[in-house]
Amino acid sequence: MTATFHYRENVLYCEDVELSRITAETGTPCYVYSTDALREGYLAYERALEGAPHRVCFAVKANSNLSVLRLLGELGAGFDIVSGGELFRVLKAGGDPSKVVFAGVGKTREEIEFALGQGIFGFNCESEAELALISSLAVRLRKTASVSVRVNPDVDAQTHPYISTGLREHKFGIDIAEVEQVYERARLLPNLALNGVSCHIGSQLLDAAPLIESARKMISLAERLRTRGFDIHHLDLGGSIGVPYQPGEVQPDLAGYLTAVRLLIEGKDLTLMFEPGRWVAARAGALLTRVLYRKRNGEKEFMVVDAAMNDLIRPALYQAWHEIQPLRKNQFGTVLADVVGPICESGDFMARDREVVNALPGDTLALLNAGAYGFTQASNYNARPRACEVLVDGAAWRIVRRRETFEDLIRGEE
Ligand SMILES: *Cc1c(COP(=O)(O)O)cnc(C)c1O
Repeated sequence: MTATFHYRENVLYCEDVELSRITAETGTPCYVYSTDALREGYLAYERALEGAPHRVCFAVKANSNLSVLRLLGELGAGFDIVSGGELFRVLKAGGDPSKVVFAGVGKTREEIEFALGQGIFGFNCESEAELALISSLAVRLRKTASVSVRVNPDVDAQTHPYISTGLREHKFGIDIAEVEQVYERARLLPNLALNGVSCHIGSQLLDAAPLIESARKMISLAERLRTRGFDIHHLDLGGSIGVPYQPGEVQPDLAGYLTAVRLLIEGKDLTLMFEPGRWVAARAGALLTRVLYRKRNGEKEFMVVDAAMNDLIRPALYQAWHEIQPLRKNQFGTVLADVVGPICESGDFMARDREVVNALPGDTLALLNAGAYGFTQASNYNARPRACEVLVDGAAWRIVRRRETFEDLIRGEE
């Protein structure tokens, strides 16, 4: 539980809104986000970095709802994007393109042109071919593209293999051992300003040590590049430190991590950049789902709910663990069960062999810590309309994305 999602007399609230009041109007499944938690997640970075030159760019892929982006943009956030579609969303939400960094191994020509045209802050480039393409497009558009090479610092993030990105064997970035030669060759390309270095070693790191080790390696790289005459003025250290999902996981010390990095760059005249997604959004959101059926197959107890892997794929994709709490506590104790969705896949589960509240059909449950990589990874698999999204602010709430209809499912088809 968090301060955001909490019980008052056995009834679950988000901030000052009773969650069952929301589902009575919206139905389920429904994502609910807390304005206060989003704000606090972002401001935790701002506070720890106050006084040091820095920029915090929210990773749009974690939660790209327009109202969420608008809220963060109004607090001063920049944005880390990985596609032209995400840039479109940022612009629609009133985000400032001059605070946008564009990451990703497969940027297309059209996406690069769109980003150059909008005047984004810069590109985090992942290959020499991409550097060459950005250069040629910048020449054509008569722009100078600010670029950092995404470096693979060869640090083991010790996180889930699907969200670990900083080893030589991964598809991301350019090997730190080769990157100086890449900058040297890129020096010859026109209309590029090679003014930064970037890395992102993985997501959901519960230990700051690998992040600090990679910061150390990146700072000495920046200094070596300066010695070679490159005007390196920013250091982008990528995504956030992890958040606790399971009991027993301890919340990492974000301020401690950021302070350690600040000390490392002291006096070096480098602007620090961070691209947190999960830290800002995960704890700010819950997915509300109704219990449809209870059933028993042999020894196994199942709780069938109306949210499925198309709504929240993290359990299926990363063996992720989401705390499950009832909207109203009952007197029936707990039960060892699999909480599963209606989709025709054995991987369609929200929890496996979990001691969960002994909920009955008709009861509503909250899957907590679902604000990051929840709705953004939702799909229409099994022709299921995507859930609605709600934003709570104090005692007020509003639908910030309506539930899809059957008509939405076939839009654009013949
Ligand atoms: C996904 C991603 C992030 C955000 O990671 P979080 O763990 O959600 O903070 C930041 N930067 C890059 C390049 C990413 O791919």
